[in-house]
Amino acid sequence: MVATDPIALAQALIRCPSVTPEDAGALAVLESALTPLGFSCKRLRFDTKDSPPIENLYARLGTTGPNFCFAGHTDVVPVGDRAAWKHDPFAADIVDGMLYGRGAADMKSAIAAFVAATARHIEKNGKPKGSISLLITGDEEGPAVNGTVKVLDWLKTTGGVLDHCIVGEPSSAASAGDMIKIGRRGSMNVRAVVKGVQGHVAYPGLALNPIPIMAELIARLSEWTLDKGSEHFEPSTLAVTTVDAKNAAVNVIPADVSAGFNIRFNDLHTPHSLMRALESLAREVMREKGGEIGLSYSVSGMSFFTKPGAFTELLSAAIARVTGKRPEFSTGGGTSDARFIKDYCPVAELGLAGRTMHKIDECVSLEDMELLTRIYQSVLE
Ligand SMILES: [Zn+2]
Repeated sequence: MVATDPIALAQALIRCPSVTPEDAGALAVLESALTPLGFSCKRLRFDTKDSPPIENLYARLGTTGPNFCFAGHTDVVPVGDRAAWKHDPFAADIVDGMLYGRGAADMKSAIAAFVAATARHIEKNGKPKGSISLLITGDEEGPAVNGTVKVLDWLKTTGGVLDHCIVGEPSSAASAGDMIKIGRRGSMNVRAVVKGVQGHVAYPGLALNPIPIMAELIARLSEWTLDKGSEHFEPSTLAVTTVDAKNAAVNVIPADVSAGFNIRFNDLHTPHSLMRALESLAREVMREKGGEIGLSYSVSGMSFFTKPGAFTELLSAAIARVTGKRPEFSTGGGTSDARFIKDYCPVAELGLAGRTMHKIDECVSLEDMELLTRIYQSVLE
């Protein structure tokens, strides 16, 4: 394998069926590409009682600062209906300039581009003055408990410092470098339970049916404008995801009904401020309609935002040197490990076009992979 070529490495990575939480040899493939370049590789296996053990890798070239970090994940989502794939999801076929396989877009090809860009940089300039590191987890698509969070904790306790970081998630729209993510909205799940009084359907006056009360609450939440968006973010949104009375009987008014909501929130809110607003809205409905409300929530992803400044300007200029065009700065889409890294250093997501991620016949164009490699090299320069 030639280190400066991302294609062979991307293929070798795709051929490891590393569906979360399996590593399936993916990190060993990566280590064998990094070690000859002078990286010292540290494997970090983390384990907790209620989450599967995960293999992670922190590789660093150089011992002095500043330390520029490429972050990403070698785990992939399941293939789904395997028979529906035209190309074996773990064969890494190349057909008509496209590389196929699970993880081709999200995000094994970007990891291969990290390595190829570093190899080209060394070939041209020798060893970097500071350090280049790779923080690679096997737990991004899963619960994200034994992955990046714990590697960052470990780094902190061992005195490791990251100065700037690119996460290689598929951030682009049509081709590599046309868009970078400088933030993501946060995500939280809320569970609401409305308690009424159980009773016979023929004697509704002796009962308090919680379902119409919940219906009223849902109607108000559906019309709730959380905000109109902020300078860099789209408006926050709330979606009802489930309603359930778990009532098998046709002649019983149920005692309670529960509902689930997912909120995607921008930088104008915190989970705490949202819950306060939600509680006061729900209590108003209970005052009008009767019933008791119970609310609980869990945060499935904190937001992150890197203010446009020196770092985003550096990335933008590096991209323009390669593509001739400045990227769009976006904060749209789902959540990523950048939400953890943002507590340590400025971070942005810069990767391939992600149109086929998590889909049948996931693929990436070889041209795009080469473009991304040159962009990463341009950032390192
Ligand atoms: Zn990803």
